[in-house]
Amino acid sequence: MFVNDCIFCKIIEKQIPCEFLHEDELAVIFRDIHPKAKTHLLIVPKKHIHSIAQMEEGDEKIVGHLMRMAQKIGDKLGLSGYNLQINVGKDGGQEIFHLHVHLMSKSG
Ligand code: 5GP
Ligand code: ZN
Repeated sequence: MFVNDCIFCKIIEKQIPCEFLHEDELAVIFRDIHPKAKTHLLIVPKKHIHSIAQMEEGDEKIVGHLMRMAQKIGDKLGLSGYNLQINVGKDGGQEIFHLHVHLMSKSG
């Protein structure tokens, strides 16, 4: 499930210290280290999926869960609105090849 040289797997496994705003059986949420908005969170599945382009049968449940977590953390933090972004592949601006959703907001 975990990939050795993957920084997000290491964060999820707690090999690298990182404060989680939320953790459940499928996903974690933590703040982006280089925020591009007042609130910039990363919603990350525990399963190592390289990107949307490498989704397997059944992963739609996980990706749907990430959207539900966006809604819940948005509510919890009282965000008035936010942008959700998924970069797919090098030419899509993806730098970390462990699927994640950026949640960015001017509020928070
Ligand atoms: P991507 O370009 O792959 O969609 O986004 C990767 C994001 O991960 C970037 O916004 C980058 O700032 C963030 N990031 C990279 N390494 C770390 C890290 O070690 N900790 C945290 N919290 N964020 C990271
Ligand atoms: Zn990973």
